[in-house]
Amino acid sequence: MYSHCMTKRALIIGGGIAGPVTAMALRRAGIDSEVFEAYDRGAEGVGAFLTLAVNGLEALRLLDLHDLVRDLGMDTPVMEIRNARGRLLATTSQPSRTLRRADLYQALRDEAVRRGVRIHYGKRLTGASATANGVRAVFADGGEAEGDLLVGADGLRSRTRALIDAEAPCARYVGLLNTGGYAEGVRAPGRPGVCYFIFGRRCFFGYMIHPEGQVWWFANPPSRREMPPEELAAITPEQWRARLMDLFEGDAGPMREIIAATPDILPGWNTYDFPRVPKWSGERMVLVGDAAHATSPSSGQGASMAVEDAVVLGKCLRDVPDTAKAFAAFERLRRERVERVVAQGKRNGDGKAPGAGGAFVRDLILPVVMRQVEKRNALAWMHDYRITWDERVAA
Ligand SMILES: Cc1cc2nc3c(=O)[nH]c(=O)nc-3n(C[C@H](O)[C@H](O)[C@H](O)COP(=O)(O)OP(=O)(O)OC[C@H]3O[C@@H](n4cnc5c(N)ncnc54)[C@H](O)[C@@H]3O)c2cc1C
Repeated sequence: MYSHCMTKRALIIGGGIAGPVTAMALRRAGIDSEVFEAYDRGAEGVGAFLTLAVNGLEALRLLDLHDLVRDLGMDTPVMEIRNARGRLLATTSQPSRTLRRADLYQALRDEAVRRGVRIHYGKRLTGASATANGVRAVFADGGEAEGDLLVGADGLRSRTRALIDAEAPCARYVGLLNTGGYAEGVRAPGRPGVCYFIFGRRCFFGYMIHPEGQVWWFANPPSRREMPPEELAAITPEQWRARLMDLFEGDAGPMREIIAATPDILPGWNTYDFPRVPKWSGERMVLVGDAAHATSPSSGQGASMAVEDAVVLGKCLRDVPDTAKAFAAFERLRRERVERVVAQGKRNGDGKAPGAGGAFVRDLILPVVMRQVEKRNALAWMHDYRITWDERVAA
């Protein structure tokens, strides 16, 4: 049940994943909140897809949001990894759900509104400062809002992060580009429920078969150089198609058929992470999600970390009355874990572009490593992590 005597009021910046989920967690903790999203409603488009790992799904369950994601996308509990010659390197199994980012954003926003959260669109945060009793946010349209605290859920390019710490580092480019799409009418080998990953000789590729037949895929062309956004935007879908066809020439696997059967190849983007954001909070302001600790998509954990953050912040603000101490408790509970995930994501990503010698070693070592990982449950720290909503947080 939600509390009816809301005492504090939070301003949440960003209506992605961390924003709406934080709003729902805070509501459950008895704190009223409003979400301010820079873009207009529906600006998201079709876009890419992402996978929620089991730990993220379990964190959603604490807020009764697991049914919501069960209605979107597909289950992808099995992962199969092959090399460029088609040799099976590893198989693992772990519950997870793959869904379109835009569908997840929309569903979370709709549910937050249904639970009484107000979401304002077209509100880009430009400034924020502490006042005598709280915090004031200023938006690009000249509007202002006041609250008791402000949560920066504004993603990789967080404005809140810069307001908390003008010296905050920039995101790290991790040497990979990203593109992908949704192929129609192609018979890719395999079955629904499996993520097929292929270490091509020149490019990493992943695909999943939707139960209704579409093939969802992504590719990570390596690029030492971080491409300026305008240069990336200038590459047409047909140029991407031609480039990817070249990159997968001669590799075993259905990559070229899948790419050929994709009507609209997604515009490419650079991949980044944040090994360490030194300051997560300032006076009355705190960061959650990618704003605090973006991980490369190669970890498969960015969305799950955003959800976990939201739930843990809700608990901290519920149990620790002093806001600054609540933020400190949040950081104490989260920093080590999320930085470990970011490091894991970087390692996963580095394996995607190893060069010829590295690929030979990888093909030898990966099967052994993956068998050990399965046998010893070496990623249990990541996947078996569970938050208990009722357990109290100490200041
Ligand atoms: C292509 C791609 C594939 C990915 N694949 C996976 C995956 O398989 N598994 C996984 O777990 N994660 C994946 N991720 C990462 C995942 O999407 C992010 O970690 C997750 O979205 C983080 O949520 P967030 O709410 O912190 O940030 P975001 O989802 O980026 O949301 C931030 C929001 O803040 C808004 N905003 C920004 N600036 C302002 C401002 N100044 N004022 C107001 N609003 C603002 C933005 O418009 C946006 O809506 C992937 C990411 C990408 C890009």
